[in-house]
Amino acid sequence: MQSLEGRVALITGASRGIGRAIAVELAAQGATVVVNYRSNQDAASAVVDEIIGAGGKANAIGADVSQFEAAGDLVAQTIEQHGQLDILVNNAGIARDNLILRLGEDDWDTVIETNLKSVFNTCKAVFKPMMRKRYGRIINISSVSGIAGNAGQTNYSASKAGMIGFSRALAREAATRGITVNVIAPGFISTDMTEDLTEDLKDLSLAAIPLGRWGDAQEVAYAVAFLASERAGYITGQVLSVDGGMVMA
Ligand code: NAP
Repeated sequence: MQSLEGRVALITGASRGIGRAIAVELAAQGATVVVNYRSNQDAASAVVDEIIGAGGKANAIGADVSQFEAAGDLVAQTIEQHGQLDILVNNAGIARDNLILRLGEDDWDTVIETNLKSVFNTCKAVFKPMMRKRYGRIINISSVSGIAGNAGQTNYSASKAGMIGFSRALAREAATRGITVNVIAPGFISTDMTEDLTEDLKDLSLAAIPLGRWGDAQEVAYAVAFLASERAGYITGQVLSVDGGMVMA
C-alpha cells in the first residue's frame, strides 16, 4: 500500500520548484493533493496534469497565503472539495535580498508576510479541523538561512528563523491532539529562486557543502513525504536539514 493513501494534502506554493516536487511526490505516495499557487495558474495546472497523468489525484487552488482571509478560504475550499485535510505543507516563500543599508521597509514587510505570517494564517485555519479529527501533519519549509543566518538576508533569515520558533511552539500545543509539526531546512536547491545567484556565489556555496553539490527539489520532497507519513508519528517539533551537511547543529 502507498504510505499516504486516503490522505488529503495541501501544499502552498506548489506551482514551481520545491513545492512542485513535494506535490508530485505526495501524490505518488497516494495522497490527494491540492496545488496552491499565487499567480502562475498555467504552471499550477501543469503540475496537476502531471499528477493526474501518473494516475494520481490533484487540483489547483489559487490564493495569496500571506493574506489572512485568502489563506483561510484556501483551507476551507480544500476541506469542502475533499472532505478532510490531513497534511499541510507550508512551502510558499520569496526572497528579496539586500544588505541592511539598502533593504527597504517594503522588502522587510513583504518577506515576513509571505514567508512567516502565511504559516500562521494556514496553521490557524487547519488547526480546528485537524484537532477534531485528532490527526494532522504540518511541515514547514524553512531554510539553513534561518539557522545560521546569511549576509544580505536579514529579512529572509528572520522569517525562516521565525518559522522554526513558531513550529516548536505549535508542536507543543498540538501534540495531545494527534497533530505533529516539523520543519525542513533546505540548503542550496536548484530552483527559480536560486537561479539568479552569481557564478561566484554558486562556487563559494559549493565550498561550504560537505557533499560538494547543490541539492535537488526531489531530495527535499522525499524528506517531506517521510514526515507526512504515519511512520513519522513519534517525531514532532524537529528541524531536519536537507543541505548536504552544510549546517550541522
Ligand atoms: P520558487 O521556485 O521561487 O517557487 C516559489 C513558489 O511559492 C511558487 O509556487 C509561487 O507561486 C509560490 N508563492 C510565492 N508567494 C506566494 C504567496 N504569497 N502565496 C502563495 N504562493 C506563493 O521557490 P523554491 O526555491 O521552490 O522555494 C520553495 C520554498 O523553499 C520557499 O519557502 C523557500 O524559501 C524555501 N527554500 C528554498 C531554497 C532553495 O535553495 N531553492 C533553500 C532553502 C529554502 P507562483 O508560481 O504563483 O508565483
